[in-house]
Amino acid sequence: MKTKKLLMIPGPTPVVDSIRAQMARDTVAFGDPDFVEDFKEVLHDLKDMWNCDGEAFVVAGSGTLAMEMALANTLKKGDKYLLVSNGFFGDRFIDIAERKGIAIEVLQAEWGQPILPEEVDKKLAEGGFKAVSVTHVDTSTGVIAPIKEIGEVIKKYEDVIYIVDGVCSVGAETADLKENNIDILFTGSQKAFGVCPGLMMLWANQRSLNRRESLGTIAEYYCDYEKWLPIMRDPAKYYATPPINLIWALQESVRIMKDEGLENRYDRHKKNAVAMNQAFEAMGFTILADKEYRAHTLSNLVYPEGIDDAAFRKQLADEGVQAAGGVGKYAGKMLRIGHMGNADRHTMVSTIAALERTVKHFNANYNMGTAVTAYLQAMED
Ligand SMILES: *Cc1c(COP(=O)(O)O)cnc(C)c1O
Repeated sequence: MKTKKLLMIPGPTPVVDSIRAQMARDTVAFGDPDFVEDFKEVLHDLKDMWNCDGEAFVVAGSGTLAMEMALANTLKKGDKYLLVSNGFFGDRFIDIAERKGIAIEVLQAEWGQPILPEEVDKKLAEGGFKAVSVTHVDTSTGVIAPIKEIGEVIKKYEDVIYIVDGVCSVGAETADLKENNIDILFTGSQKAFGVCPGLMMLWANQRSLNRRESLGTIAEYYCDYEKWLPIMRDPAKYYATPPINLIWALQESVRIMKDEGLENRYDRHKKNAVAMNQAFEAMGFTILADKEYRAHTLSNLVYPEGIDDAAFRKQLADEGVQAAGGVGKYAGKMLRIGHMGNADRHTMVSTIAALERTVKHFNANYNMGTAVTAYLQAMED
């Protein structure tokens, strides 16, 4: 019998039946009054749940589009911008900024550690910066940045717009705009929202919308706020065709979140992540991120001595689990496992069991059941 393959990479994450069912519905016209109401409701909920006094944008595209959208609507050529990079996804902003002629400066963290608020403060004190961006959880390292404390620092600098890349966090880690002093936050549908890939969601508060207005006409067309604002304020209008079924799927994902309650959802992720990490350590993996700065959405595991990444992941796939490898300097040295969104406890236990079978395959002395036990015990506490 063929084993079901569990999708345990850090995005896309497992899509539950009720969300998938929305993808299978008969597609309607974008002007269909029922669809327009659904789209309105999603936008209203997104703004409300993440405490945004400006606009939420839901646009077809992946998280990378949102990265570009955030910079394009905040900075013009020559503006000073501070990138706080905690890894591979942070570094993606370098290329985006350079192509736009933005004067980027980078604070680069050691992989496994975040940049601390004091360092951001020191850099901003040099003066002239128009924006700062921070990756909340960098998927390449599994580190969570202290976004609230950095937000406190940024309050002192009137001209600075605070951008947070929440692609691997929003919906699983606290990222309230007002509470964290965030001006622009964004994510993609396929990570902690548990929707199929294809949508980006971006929240821009009033302060950041004012910045956009001050820029005048910008070079970008598809990701210009000013093109999308009329649609986000009244989804009956047309600018570019909305991905109807994906928006329904997002609506269902948001309904699931409201049903669970965001605080409960954050607590669930935290408890599960701590237990998963105990299981991983019981199998001999080392977790890259310092304990103090570990994300709850994924785990980045450094292999024990002598394990070949490609062989391990192939065996793991045969055992029914798809996991991701390392990127950048950890390519070939790391196993990355996502545990965010709507993946349930059955999925976690099955994932650990498949990992145990794989570890046993490479190490005959491994004591089967140790990691599942560690997980179950930690979940009891
Ligand atoms: C996945 C990810 C991205 C890129 O998103 P895509 O949907 O792949 O374009 C950006 N930032 C972070 C932190 C991510 O995890």
